[in-house]
Amino acid sequence: MDFDIERKRMIRSLVEKGYLTKPDVIKAMEKVPRHLFVPEGIRRSAYIDTPLSIGEGQTISAPHMVAIMVEALDLRPGMKVLEVGGGSGYHAAVMGEIVRPDGHVYSVERIESLAERAKKNLKEAGYDDIVTIVVGDGSKGLGEFAPFDRICVAAAAPGVPEPLKQQLADDGKLLIPVGGRWYQDLILVERKQNKFLQTNLGGCVFVPLIGEYGYGN
Ligand code: SAH
Repeated sequence: MDFDIERKRMIRSLVEKGYLTKPDVIKAMEKVPRHLFVPEGIRRSAYIDTPLSIGEGQTISAPHMVAIMVEALDLRPGMKVLEVGGGSGYHAAVMGEIVRPDGHVYSVERIESLAERAKKNLKEAGYDDIVTIVVGDGSKGLGEFAPFDRICVAAAAPGVPEPLKQQLADDGKLLIPVGGRWYQDLILVERKQNKFLQTNLGGCVFVPLIGEYGYGN
């Protein structure tokens, strides 16, 4: 199986369906090898537009969801980004590709074994210089590296965690699935000084954010 050809085909289909429109996001998703971020036994499925199991009951998001989120975040080179829910590291790598070379992505993952695998995946794919994986409860943010230009939460929360709002830079954007455990709305929060503007980008389904400002431990 030629993964590069499969990846190009999938990206073309995401463009045709309207999920991908921005040249920098298209380029980044064309470049990041998703097959290196899924367990070896299911690599053949890496370029099907679907979430896949990465162990510990968690999933790597479907490529169209990564496309929607990365487009909505409006990333630019040099930005400092926080991801909550690092999972496989794939989404962080796509963001890293866009903020390169002067930006950085800090990605928090609460399950240690997944964090270790994500670190390995990122190294193998060549993103360990631009993405730092941190083990911990990302619902509290990552105070020591705040403020962040962008915050991307890849797990569903009952509401927008207050620490994440506070760790957002002025003119910053935060994306988070908010709602019940089985179905959520993708919410974009934009900070203008101390005002927070919220826009609903539509329905989505994510695994729960487990932590102090999520669904509890
Ligand atoms: N972005 C990932 C997919 C994330 S799946 C990728 O590209 O593969 C959601 C992840 O959020 C899971 O790995 C889960 O363990 C993690 N998670 C859930 N609650 C968390 C919390 N409070 N802090 C950090 N990670 C959390």
